[in-house]
Amino acid sequence: MIPYGKQDINQQDIDAVIEVLKSDFLTQGPMVPEFEKAVSNYVGSNYGVAVNSATSALHLACLALGVNKGDLVWTSPISFVASANCAIYCGATVDFVDIDEKTYNLSSEKLLKKLIKCRENNTPLPKVVIPVHLAGQSCDMQVIHKLSKEFGFKVLEDASHAIGAKYKGRFIGSCEYSDICVFSFHPVKIITTAEGGLATTNNDFLAEKMRLLRGHGITRDQALMTEKSHGPWYYQQIDLGFNYRMTEIQAALGLSQMKRLNEFIELRSTLAKNYDNRFNKLEVVTPFQNEDALSSWHLYIIQVDIDKHRRVFKELRENGIGVNLHYIPIHLQPFHKKITSKKYFLPNSEEYYETSMSVPIFHGMESEQQEKVMSCLGEALQ
Ligand SMILES: *Cc1c(COP(=O)(O)O)cnc(C)c1O
Repeated sequence: MIPYGKQDINQQDIDAVIEVLKSDFLTQGPMVPEFEKAVSNYVGSNYGVAVNSATSALHLACLALGVNKGDLVWTSPISFVASANCAIYCGATVDFVDIDEKTYNLSSEKLLKKLIKCRENNTPLPKVVIPVHLAGQSCDMQVIHKLSKEFGFKVLEDASHAIGAKYKGRFIGSCEYSDICVFSFHPVKIITTAEGGLATTNNDFLAEKMRLLRGHGITRDQALMTEKSHGPWYYQQIDLGFNYRMTEIQAALGLSQMKRLNEFIELRSTLAKNYDNRFNKLEVVTPFQNEDALSSWHLYIIQVDIDKHRRVFKELRENGIGVNLHYIPIHLQPFHKKITSKKYFLPNSEEYYETSMSVPIFHGMESEQQEKVMSCLGEALQ
């Protein structure tokens, strides 16, 4: 099976991991801060906080932004479930903003309409909005940022797909239009640490808060303590945190992968162009690209005629093409139906689910593999 995505590990990555295994620290050593610095320098943010997954990073980000019981958090239904779960962990209620029919990202127009409706009906506004850069293409961050000022919510970018992607000339993660931005390093994403995630921010309070909560809410900083130190062993737990730490092994792998990020993005862009050229001759919708966004091409999502979609998908799988569907709309998941009686009206998201599929794209994909995907799709569409 040609997978829809997978990691690329070279000798340099392997050597970096082995070196850590032979060193004094497997956790809480020098590699995590070094990895954090590498990512924040690359994307152009003041701070980077590395954790054991993007899900953990999203959870800490929600906590740092003050998401609490009774608060409202809005996100896109076309995302991985973690984009919504992070708010539910904090006791918040999640609601969804429908997607744009061209980019499949959370629609900034629908967001505006929904915000105005809240204001008119005097119903609660969201505390945080979580735009998701689907496939690696940025949402309309400038517009979302402007709305956040006007309606008083915080912006948390779920950039799990989007390390190395750009928006208006700057890397996603620079937080020019958000409070916090989160990356995932799961093996199918752009770079990997096996499991791992990282939050970037320019706000020192938010960075400190996420650091504190990553490690049990424990501090060794006298300035934060409630009384004088009892001695050199002393620490205080000043908040309820978690063990969300990234290991040194993961950070070393991440640091090595960061050096290859430009190369990863370049090859993914080339693969995407090859698909564009070929698929434009077929009866499929190729990924629309906003001119102010440069995608990292985590996914290459096509749309197929609704009447053919299920058959084409099945035929491709039978032919060893690991097509996938990103994503089942979150509001249709049994868990969400269980926790709310709300009737959602998200027609673009539900139509997207009937027509879209992700075709394989990953670093190290060979031209014969890509050729096979293209010819099999051509045949399946006949
Ligand atoms: C992968 C992914 C996550 C979760 O990332 P983990 O590192 O596996 O926790 C969250 N949101 C989106 C959009 C993702 O694709």
